[in-house]
Amino acid sequence: MVNDQIGGIHVLPPLVINWHITEACNYSCKFCYAKWQAERETRELIHNPARSRQLLEALYALFGPQAPDNPLSGRMAYRGVRLTLAGGEPFLYRRLCLDLINVARGIGFEISVITNASRLGIAEMRELAPNLSILGISVDSGNDHTNGAIGRKDGKGVALSLGDLRERIAAARSINPKINLKINTVVNAHNWQEDFSDAIGQLCPDRWKVLRVLPARTDALVITQAEFDAFVARHRAFRNIMSVEDNADMTQSYLMIDPHGRFFQNRVGRPGYDYSAPILEVGAAEAFKQIIFSPSGFVSRYPSVELPEVA
Ligand code: SF4
Repeated sequence: MVNDQIGGIHVLPPLVINWHITEACNYSCKFCYAKWQAERETRELIHNPARSRQLLEALYALFGPQAPDNPLSGRMAYRGVRLTLAGGEPFLYRRLCLDLINVARGIGFEISVITNASRLGIAEMRELAPNLSILGISVDSGNDHTNGAIGRKDGKGVALSLGDLRERIAAARSINPKINLKINTVVNAHNWQEDFSDAIGQLCPDRWKVLRVLPARTDALVITQAEFDAFVARHRAFRNIMSVEDNADMTQSYLMIDPHGRFFQNRVGRPGYDYSAPILEVGAAEAFKQIIFSPSGFVSRYPSVELPEVA
């Protein structure tokens, strides 16, 4: 069993729960998978702070380190629980999102966010950065034309430049020197031939997550295995920080919640998601039973998580 080691002490990483708080985004990426089917016309939970808090409390009561009925007990070991807020673009709802982070910290979660960073100015960063373990930023090209082709621009045709992004990251790091920076890149039909060396060199992430575009909803911008492999091989100089996720690696290996407070999973072999009932209606334990989550799949992405020996 491999764990992170600091000064000879084994350190388990946290369990990660990804809550996609909204499907709204100011960009329009053609491959965007942030679309969920609502069973009925319900507002996204983020707009109701009291119910958002209830959801987080229910999750922590089920998966927190002291949880008596943790369904993952005996299946994997971890230190604490990290809540990753994602979207859509979570900071479209700047105040709600920042308040939610304070609530989640109070409950006991570590926090990370996945954002396109376009709405994170210095004022937001001052409030956000001290609360974050990981700042995750999606960067799919260093080239303005390619960002346009992907759809990574707002309604006015504006995308964050690499220079702007560098400044925001520098601000986050100066406010919270312990913050970890993760860059997420979705490799797709428009960027698989791009050389990211300069962009990654400028941003200096602690981790660079390279994901093959996932046909979760649409086949837009899909690439072949050979094209994905070529992208990865071109960037082998970054292998120490790069973690590569092909489509199979993304199936059942994430613990994910949609904007309506349901667990969901990527379907196997066909586009779309499978959903649980809403967690606030049936309880977190019952909802969790309704989806498939693979501890071994999770571990393969976080190789320092411990799995018990199976007899
Ligand atoms: S930035 Fe992310 S959430 Fe927004 S459109 Fe692109 S892929 Fe979707």
